[in-house]
Amino acid sequence: MSLLTINQLTAGYGKLEVLHGISLAVEPGQFVAILGPNGSGKSTLVKSVFGLTRIFGGSIAVESTPLVGLPTEKIGRQGLAYIPQRENVFTSMTIRDNLLLAVRKLSQAAAGHSLTEVYQLFPILEQRQAQRAGRLSGGERQMLAIALGWLSRPRLMLLDEPSAGLSPLFVKEIFRVLRHLCDSGLTLVVVEQNARSVLRWCDYAYVLREGQVAFQGTSADILTDEETVKGYLGVGRINTAEAQRTLRDEN
Ligand code: ADP
Ligand code: MG
Repeated sequence: MSLLTINQLTAGYGKLEVLHGISLAVEPGQFVAILGPNGSGKSTLVKSVFGLTRIFGGSIAVESTPLVGLPTEKIGRQGLAYIPQRENVFTSMTIRDNLLLAVRKLSQAAAGHSLTEVYQLFPILEQRQAQRAGRLSGGERQMLAIALGWLSRPRLMLLDEPSAGLSPLFVKEIFRVLRHLCDSGLTLVVVEQNARSVLRWCDYAYVLREGQVAFQGTSADILTDEETVKGYLGVGRINTAEAQRTLRDEN
């Protein structure tokens, strides 16, 4: 059974319909990218999963549990974590206090263990642990946001443009960690405008255009489909899955 199933979803804001019949399925352990130009409905899709839009029709389910109509906090309790593009950390608190807040319900031993794991994933967060989150660089802040989401031990994490505005080095580091988390069992849905980067790391991608799925396929399918590559993504053609892996080593 798919972990996340969206069927014929029509959604938007107020009277405005932004998504027009989107269907997709995310399998357990997959790293799925949602691509598409600015305004194509990527954020609206992720917000819809969390009950933050108006749903006009269709269904969203985690395994066999329908989500449409549930309040956002109950959706979170289904094992989902949402990392929004902005306002994803407490800026007036230190890194360490942000992390401690996320593990406050754990025993002291379990909390300590969780922090150690976070610092292994993102060593820079340990070095900067006493710094206020509001003073971090964009990349460091994104790492903290991912760590905070991951500390809720989700089955499925949905991220909205984790690489937006970051330097190539941070982009690569963030995708490397996301790939590692996915290989350790976490299922991922990552919204990205930066198709060229994410296609090197994800398993499967959906390309949105004007609120509909324009194309879908494995990363290799998309990267080798000339029309998609030119028409929707503006990235150069890459021939094989092997090339995809090799490209991960580039910036
Ligand atoms: P993307 O994330 O792909 O850039 P969005 O999902 O943010 O696209 O936006 C899709 C469309 O929905 C755009 O036309 C945008 O103006 C509109 N939109 C987004 N958020 C809102 C909102 N809160 N209220 C009304 N319209 C919105
Ligand atoms: Mg967006």
